[in-house]
Amino acid sequence: MKFSGSNVLITGASRGIGKEIAKTLANFGLKVWINYRNGIDAAELVKEEIEKNGGSAAIIKADVTSEKEFNEAIKTIVDSDGQFSYLVNNAGITKDKLSLRMSMEDFTSVLNTNLTSTFIGCKAALKVMRKQRFGSIVNISSIVGEMGNPGQVNYAASKGGVNAMTKSFAKEAASRGIRYNAVTPGFIQTQMTDELNSNIKEEYEKNIPLLRFGQSSEVANAVAFLLSDYSSYITGEILKVNGGLYV
Ligand code: NAP
Repeated sequence: MKFSGSNVLITGASRGIGKEIAKTLANFGLKVWINYRNGIDAAELVKEEIEKNGGSAAIIKADVTSEKEFNEAIKTIVDSDGQFSYLVNNAGITKDKLSLRMSMEDFTSVLNTNLTSTFIGCKAALKVMRKQRFGSIVNISSIVGEMGNPGQVNYAASKGGVNAMTKSFAKEAASRGIRYNAVTPGFIQTQMTDELNSNIKEEYEKNIPLLRFGQSSEVANAVAFLLSDYSSYITGEILKVNGGLYV
């Protein structure tokens, strides 16, 4: 894979899919900025692992639901590296409940973390990248934003919003040489899905044409492709990484 840029910020990279994306992109030679909110020890471990493998990494604290903190993180990166090549909006949460039991807090907190933070990141990246006339952004969405899921009205709305927003940013920014794409993972083995009841998990697996949950590395490879020069004519795309569960 070839990358014309040199650095990347991955939000929520202290564990799960974000961590794997960080490791994969470091292997491709990018300097990786590992964002975390609470898990400083976990973020430090990701940095150490990358450096042990000869990669370059830095950790950066920010709650991405705060425009001020997210903007400051990007400013820190530009001040340090003189440019900002790539952004992966990965941080996300779930607060699953059937809709009749879902409180406004359950709804708005998921919207804020998954959708509003992605807007903040996409906008902040555009401000910097339009001056460079270069940049690529990948938003981590979900299969649930495409097909819906009981108990996830909040999450589905947030990820459906991410998909629509990605396409709109792509259209606004294309003439500046900046690309926006999203990936929609299906069920991926992480802490988020470890919380699922094992019977439900088995039931889901039976319905996946590839008959298994995906690995974080399989999402990370798709993200690397969409950031890289190998996808230079692709923008506004929503790439499914779901084992065929929704096609
Ligand atoms: P995870 O293991 O729960 O990790 C989530 C990460 O997001 C953590 O590093 C967490 O950091 C960070 N985070 C949460 N709120 C944040 C905030 N306000 N500011 C900064 N960081 C924040 O989740 P995951 O399974 O890897 O999921 C990653 C992304 O993939 C999410 O967008 C999720 O919706 C999407 N996805 C996952 C699956 C799946 O099967 N796992 C499927 C489809 C899509 P702290 O610990 O510091 O809070």
